[in-house]
Amino acid sequence: MDKQRLIVVSNRLPVAISRDEEGEWRIAPGSGGLVTALAPVMRNREGVWLGWAGTGGEVPLGELFERFGAESGYRLQSVPISEEEIEKYYLGFSNETLWPLFHDLLGYCNFDPENWRAYIEVNRRFAEAVAATATEQDQIWIHDYQLCLVGGHLRELGVRQPLAFFLHIPFPSLDLFRRLPWKQELIRGLVAYDLVGFQTLRDRRNFVQCAAALIPELEVISRQRHYTLLRCGERTIKVGHFPISIDYNDFHQKAQTREVADAAWYLHESLSGRQLMLGVDRLDYTKGIPERFLAFERALELYPELRKNLSLLQVVIPSRTLVPDYRNLKELLDQMAGRINARFAEPDWMPIFYLFRSLEPTQLLAHYRTSEIALITPLRDGMNLVAKEYCASAVDLNNVLILSEFAGAADQLGHWALTVNPYDIDGTAAAIHRAFHMPREERRERMQHLQAEVERNDVHRWVRRFLGTMQGGRHG
Ligand code: UDP
Repeated sequence: MDKQRLIVVSNRLPVAISRDEEGEWRIAPGSGGLVTALAPVMRNREGVWLGWAGTGGEVPLGELFERFGAESGYRLQSVPISEEEIEKYYLGFSNETLWPLFHDLLGYCNFDPENWRAYIEVNRRFAEAVAATATEQDQIWIHDYQLCLVGGHLRELGVRQPLAFFLHIPFPSLDLFRRLPWKQELIRGLVAYDLVGFQTLRDRRNFVQCAAALIPELEVISRQRHYTLLRCGERTIKVGHFPISIDYNDFHQKAQTREVADAAWYLHESLSGRQLMLGVDRLDYTKGIPERFLAFERALELYPELRKNLSLLQVVIPSRTLVPDYRNLKELLDQMAGRINARFAEPDWMPIFYLFRSLEPTQLLAHYRTSEIALITPLRDGMNLVAKEYCASAVDLNNVLILSEFAGAADQLGHWALTVNPYDIDGTAAAIHRAFHMPREERRERMQHLQAEVERNDVHRWVRRFLGTMQGGRHG
């Protein structure tokens, strides 16, 4: 069983391709937790990863992939996507329709039939690429909202073996999902898989409710702790929830290295005894950054002792800047940070440090480690890995996590974090005040529990649980 080949399919291949100063092409593995956790499994199972390389036609992909395969022990296969398709399938349907709808933000949705047609087309291309590569013994695991229909297309192409799908973002309630003009096609596409995995129990329940309401012939057979069993015609479908995580040990160990400790020390010295509150997010309207700025402003109004004693350091990682809503958000943040700083700043204190760029890994860890408070307040989030990374890196245990109740991570971390409703500006301001005054012993106790949780349920366990459920074995 273990030697079954594993075929992983995602919109983007897990690599960064670049050109150095001499004009030589380079290929490096991606840095995320998912890639790190899957790499050893892929090596062991003679894996193949299919996806878009993210590059134009000038790149010698064959040669680069060969080099990558020799070094990493598994194969890459590119699924070509044209510029126009990227516009419609990826930026359009995936990011302007499914992304906001699945994050409960209907007002941001663009329901454009041309984008939908491109989505079907590109999903079909992915399915054809998988069908051409897979043999009957292979296990096939498809990832995320860009590729919901690949399973259905694979069935049409005659692929019969078990197909698994994992959705990294939330799944909406029936009430919201019904707004999608192509709800039938999408839900039936998802039911074509044998295992459908979600981040949280709530997402899993939403999906089961949508499937039961929209597909008349579908039956709910049983509900177990880890999955719900559905029957649709002859087929049985497992629907589970598998909260994704990080490589805890990697973060925890790296946060204690000399390099990070030095960077943390410099950062700490520059604060002259003041507390630092950190936000780290991709530029995205789901992350609740404007609401967060308002909550911090409110805290400064209501609790004057925070002035000159607490700063918010907000890192915003540039993302999807071609989509107009994202450009507008960037402008709003620039303007809000300027306004709040102009209102409260003193010659020797700045309320908000706002960085619109990525941080180097060492700097990111130093920021996690030094910040007494993390303010993580998405309006909705599939999981939120930053929350888990912050806990794993808090090696001094003098840290408080303030976390939105609408982040998937709140299911595991909510009990020991200070949870907030990000729409409740006064409530979030009160949580900032509480975190600022929280005694060291209480911070320590809460953080120890948070770390134990993230350590126990790390990304390696996530991979084992998902693949175990796929093979019908025990989850553990
Ligand atoms: N991150 C990054 N560059 C940075 C700071 C953070 O790539 O400058 C990473 C961070 O370590 C985390 C990821 O971005 O792993 C964000 O993941 P999360 O689940 O929090 O949100 P997403 O962006 O997937 O919605």
